[in-house]
Amino acid sequence: ADVSAAIRSALDTSGIEAKVVPGIKTTGCQGFCSHGPLVVIRPRGIFYQKVKPKDAKEIIEKTIVQGDVVKRLLYKNPTDGEKILHEQDIPFYKRQTRVVLHNIGKIDPTDISDTIASGGYQALAKALTTMTPEQVVQEIETSGLRGRGGAGFPTGRKWRSALTAIEKKGRPVYVVVNGDEGDPGAFMDRTIMEGDPHAVLEGLILGAYALGANQGYLYVRAEYPLAIKHLTIAMEQARACGLLGDNILNSGFSFDARINRGAGAFVCGESTALFTSIEGNPGNPRPKYVRSVEEGLWGRPTVLNNVETWANIPLIVNKGGDWYAKIGVPHSTGTKVFSLVGKVNNVGLVEVPMGVPLSTIVEDIGGGVPGGAPFKAVQTGGPSGGCIPYELKDTPVDFDSLTKAGSMMGSGAMIVMDNRDCVVDVGRYFLRFLEEESCGKCMPCRLGLSRMREILDNFSEGKGSEKDIEDLLSLSKAIQDSALCALGSSAPNPVLTTLKYFKDEYLAHVTRQK
Ligand code: SF4
Repeated sequence: ADVSAAIRSALDTSGIEAKVVPGIKTTGCQGFCSHGPLVVIRPRGIFYQKVKPKDAKEIIEKTIVQGDVVKRLLYKNPTDGEKILHEQDIPFYKRQTRVVLHNIGKIDPTDISDTIASGGYQALAKALTTMTPEQVVQEIETSGLRGRGGAGFPTGRKWRSALTAIEKKGRPVYVVVNGDEGDPGAFMDRTIMEGDPHAVLEGLILGAYALGANQGYLYVRAEYPLAIKHLTIAMEQARACGLLGDNILNSGFSFDARINRGAGAFVCGESTALFTSIEGNPGNPRPKYVRSVEEGLWGRPTVLNNVETWANIPLIVNKGGDWYAKIGVPHSTGTKVFSLVGKVNNVGLVEVPMGVPLSTIVEDIGGGVPGGAPFKAVQTGGPSGGCIPYELKDTPVDFDSLTKAGSMMGSGAMIVMDNRDCVVDVGRYFLRFLEEESCGKCMPCRLGLSRMREILDNFSEGKGSEKDIEDLLSLSKAIQDSALCALGSSAPNPVLTTLKYFKDEYLAHVTRQK
């Protein structure tokens, strides 16, 4: 905000006529987080990194008035030291395929006219004027889109199941956005909600049209105030434009939505806990005897998808399910957005087609580990995911390949580790996180995670034993088999994968004791 204000002020005092510089936009995060704040001069795409307010005057003088560049603010390639002038030539952006993020960093998220000028709400207009709800569902089925929130359930199949449930139970039916992104290191959904809120809203309205829902909810964690602010503005503007509310675009279809703020409990990202929270009760999970598409919010058929999943819907409706299915690999179509963090040069948001090797993301886009050493492991899937070692760096990043490697796609957090990171500490960190976030309702999770963490504490202090490793494995199995919800059943994953790939490191902690 400071840089944006400084640029505006420098332009105001430069004497340049407004028609020469048609506008300054404060966009959402452009994704190259380790190099921000960023200023991009379009249409030339001149890219300035790590800009401070005091640089504003020089940027305006040199770039706008003199047609020159401020060389010291250009991005420097760490491999050859070359200064790169244009955004599109920077390896971090060049190797990405920005589909869901296509508007991020380009539009002003608080101005619906900017969204509309860049193609926003075209899909909604197309669906309401030329497609039946059934055709919208078919396009989603054809696309092969799988939910981006963790489990990777096929979205079209979920919607079809909801329609079957509606046939049996009638309406109302609800559509819900899961914006309760709580994985450590994850900020994909936050960036989409902050930088392109109308994409999420348009996806939700399209889903509501397909399923015949008249009411929707956006469940967003209170720790994301800017996302809540931008979504609120987006909804107000959409209502004012006839895109939300009664008789949308004079189609006869009515739908409205409201925002619910999550109070910061990680477990509220779990579907039943999220519904319980929206219903006004403490956000505790409940047994899933019946799927939420049949009995979700207030016992009614409900379709819950995460932010990124909803943001994909307008693209699929606009360009067709066949177009989408050609991106990525069979069974994992489309692109996936990752937040790349940890021991990596280019920390930021990365969008790639499903199926690219892990090394492409970490080394080519992420620029590898600072100092040039190979990475040690990458934690994918957040605290419920697993650690993938360097030896598996060519693993295709898609739902099935990550599961085969013992990890999972999860919502898309990717934490890179180098040789200074102790995997026992990594396993302990994630376990401690989940222990603290456990709601305590069922015993396997409440007591099992605490016991596992105690054992890992012992390892960290050099007091572990080989018997402890056996206990970790048997506790993991017991928790996986009997925990009530996915928080508990997936919690042992980081420990299991670090034991699978780095058992020597655990044993080294045992040896130290002798
Ligand atoms: Fe609560 Fe953990 Fe049981 Fe889930 S598994 S219901 S978070 S105690």
